[in-house]
Amino acid sequence: MRKQWIGGTWSRTKREPIPVIDPATEEVLDSVARGTTEDADRAVAAARRALSDWRWVPGVEKAATLHEVARRMRVRKAELARQMTLEGGKPYCENHDEVEWSAACFDYYAEVGRDSRGSSLPPVAAHQVNFTIQEPYGVVAAIVPWNYPLLLLSWKVAPALAAGNTVVLKPSEETPLATLDLVSAFEALPPGVLNIVTGYGREVGEALVVHPGTDLVALTGSLATGIRVGELCARQVKKAHLELGGNDPFIVFPDADLNVASKGAVWAAFLNAGQVCTSAKRFFIFEEIYDEFVARAVKFTRSLKLGHGLDPATDIGPVINPKQLADLEARVAEAVAAGARALTGGKRSRKFAKGLFYEPTILVDVRPEMRIVATETFGPTMPIQKVRTIDEAIDAANAQEYGLGANIYTNNMEWAMTAMERITAGTFWINDPLTDNEAGPFGGMKKTGHSRELGIEGLDEFRETKHVHLDYKQELKPYWYPYKKYNASR
Ligand code: NAD
Repeated sequence: MRKQWIGGTWSRTKREPIPVIDPATEEVLDSVARGTTEDADRAVAAARRALSDWRWVPGVEKAATLHEVARRMRVRKAELARQMTLEGGKPYCENHDEVEWSAACFDYYAEVGRDSRGSSLPPVAAHQVNFTIQEPYGVVAAIVPWNYPLLLLSWKVAPALAAGNTVVLKPSEETPLATLDLVSAFEALPPGVLNIVTGYGREVGEALVVHPGTDLVALTGSLATGIRVGELCARQVKKAHLELGGNDPFIVFPDADLNVASKGAVWAAFLNAGQVCTSAKRFFIFEEIYDEFVARAVKFTRSLKLGHGLDPATDIGPVINPKQLADLEARVAEAVAAGARALTGGKRSRKFAKGLFYEPTILVDVRPEMRIVATETFGPTMPIQKVRTIDEAIDAANAQEYGLGANIYTNNMEWAMTAMERITAGTFWINDPLTDNEAGPFGGMKKTGHSRELGIEGLDEFRETKHVHLDYKQELKPYWYPYKKYNASR
């Protein structure tokens, strides 16, 4: 059983183990400690102790340390990618990229953190100086999901540390192993600056959320978890930084290059077996190109190979756990019973003796009220609807509770800008779905949440503004007691 990383050492624990399963083989890979309130207490205490030093480490030294974390991540890229493939299921090459993007995020915030600036303000009287400084919140509880374990922790940990906070990190109980392997990189940090506790969200996760020693909670997860964490934080007036679900639209306009758009659509739907928060999950295709688009998407999807992520021939891996697989089966079955047609897949793959594989599924004749369209479906599905006008496409795109991302294919400037202005989404991709850029803010509108990761905005989420009012001339003020002089002057 793997131990917890607290205060710069591997913490001994006799906690009950949580098994970690390879979803492609359903075999137990290892186990981690089922963290308790006591573990949360020890990790928060270690982070608080480290805060008083880390906060004041000069920017240039912080930057060098964060660059060193990135360098160490890259040294172990292959091992980390392999571990993520085993515990999370997505193909090795995608995990290899994920480690690189995670390291790039640490490099980015090493530099951006150094460049941190406040502002100077016009004073209200002579001999006064007004300016702002940016301060860390203190101890951040960072809680992350399983689908991009290292990337999503990096989006929180790197800016939080660059801003001078210390962190207690809780990985998902599904994919904690690569995070624990990352300790070899985090050892570049002073002890206690970053601590890792493993366990269930309802147990050690909530213990961190309600702990009086955590000053900010940064969560990426489902809407249900976000509501729960948001409520708990509200009771303590603690800031909750929430990155929640998505149900992203993908619109193909009549002028699109259908070879490119259909392949982009298949990738956007099935990357990581459709388990990306920004997976394209609802497709709206203009009627004049609908048949050709669907035919191309079906042909391309049939060429994709399901398999273990360590097999270089694999395009799509398994889904994460039996619960997700059952949910997927139920959603597709419901849609088919209500009149939808599966042109590919529509069922669990029986190609392998074991493993949680679901065939990539293109569904047509779907309707907006079907659960597979109306709510977030976390799996390899591509429900396609036909649209006739730009207004219809935009209204359909907006008919959802989330506002994470939106994708379109067109070179028509008027259509593109109209859709961009009217679709409610935190990221809008034109002719290139799903890509991230460390310098570009990422996050959602509506029920996806109300914060941003990456970019300067992602750093600002982890620091508070303090206004400093300085008067360099000590003198009695006319508006102090006694009021007489002040009133006389009015
Ligand atoms: P989840 O909400 O089940 O779990 C996320 C994390 O929260 C885990 O570490 C879990 O242990 C913890 N957790 C659960 N309940 C908790 C509680 N009551 N208190 C504290 N912590 C708790 O989500 P998941 O299944 O791991 O991930 C899938 C979801 O995440 C999807 O909805 C997806 O869209 C979303 N997601 C969003 C983004 C984004 O950037 N907006 C990115 C990736 C995933």
